[in-house]
Amino acid sequence: MKLYNLKDHNEQVSFAQAVKQGLGKQQGLFFPLELPEFALSDIDGLLEQDFVTRSSRILSAFIGDEIPEDELYQRVKNAFAFPAPVAKVEEDISCLELFHGPTLAFKDFGGRFMAQVLTQVSGDQPVTILTATSGDTGAAVAHAFHGMKNVRVVILYPRGKISPLQEKLFCTLGDNIHTIAIDGDFDQCQALVKQAFDDEELKYELKLNSANSINISRLLAQICYYFEAVAQLPQEARNQLVISVPSGNFGDLTAGLLAKSLGLPVKRFIAATNANDTVPRYLHSGEWDPKKTVATLSNAMDVSQPNNWPRVEELYRRKTWQLKDLGFASISDDTTEDAMRELADIGYISEPHAAIAYRALRDQLKPGEFGLFIGTAHPAKFKESVEAILGQELDLPKELADRADLPLLSHNLPADFSEMRAFLMALPK
Ligand SMILES: *Cc1c(COP(=O)(O)O)cnc(C)c1O
Repeated sequence: MKLYNLKDHNEQVSFAQAVKQGLGKQQGLFFPLELPEFALSDIDGLLEQDFVTRSSRILSAFIGDEIPEDELYQRVKNAFAFPAPVAKVEEDISCLELFHGPTLAFKDFGGRFMAQVLTQVSGDQPVTILTATSGDTGAAVAHAFHGMKNVRVVILYPRGKISPLQEKLFCTLGDNIHTIAIDGDFDQCQALVKQAFDDEELKYELKLNSANSINISRLLAQICYYFEAVAQLPQEARNQLVISVPSGNFGDLTAGLLAKSLGLPVKRFIAATNANDTVPRYLHSGEWDPKKTVATLSNAMDVSQPNNWPRVEELYRRKTWQLKDLGFASISDDTTEDAMRELADIGYISEPHAAIAYRALRDQLKPGEFGLFIGTAHPAKFKESVEAILGQELDLPKELADRADLPLLSHNLPADFSEMRAFLMALPK
């Protein structure tokens, strides 16, 4: 597989390099040189296969001979060791539940596949994974790499801006997992990570690698569950399918669009955001004008400078699709709460992120169409807000209950690069 840097198309790398490097020069994102497409008849065959077999075929279509197919199959099997069920919510609307993995959010798919691939391509060389999280990436990455030899993980997150249970899930692990609570918002955490990757000495000393949704391995892994969703839907839904994706950094949506580009029958996508509406405003007015990030109920989507957006634009350009065909919506916290209550009334307990996607879908779905919204996290991960909004108690799944009483092991730092750099350099080798 060859990939090019979106900031400098002359920089081309292999899949292994892209996975190890994360970003290219000038912090450019890597994008596949070839965009594979399945024939219609292949798609039908694929949809009949089981999740792991189908997923390895999809990933192999991108990755090619860089990872032999039987090896890839085993990696995928290790990573995707939990189901992605489609739950019927209304006659014409279902939810793809991506929260049945170890950290109860869709980020387990990308995080675990990346861990598998990275150990494959790095061999025994030590690496430091440095990543910023708005809540769920950190947990997924931490759990995926916890206890792995030769891998050190450093995770930055905005102090006080993720849910207490989200924090418990990954800041209590210890061992090779180091967590830093930054006095700032997610965009500042992300900026610190980018600065670290611009620091050649630091990059070399620590063998830095990013595990953000910018890492191509995570993105490719996420393509697979869109196929899994369609495989579970009734045949008649296939050509009338509208998928609504709750979006922050836009990795999940990019993966969905790549699934469509491979030939998955999806009529259209809706990019649903909270009040951090840079993309909806851009799609409406054509002007890219990020505002200051605001804190919302759906904190994993509190992103005003979405990292993956350039990939979305590149895909539209390469496929000669039109951005005007991409649906969008920005949903306020009040409307999110209403949507959660509506869902509870019809018997489906959801959390703020998925509820945003549901609201946008319900508003925009036309008669005869079939809607799917992406359930990105387990409601119990946002226990405090979900219980307050719905006025009912949630049970904690085992994954959370096991960690809820453990002490937090995080360090505190200001949003200052030189302090973070000193911290990183002082980590035990
Ligand atoms: C990360 C996350 C999102 C946003 O996904 P992106 O790929 O960053 O757009 C939505 N919901 C939840 C629960 C998340 O953890």
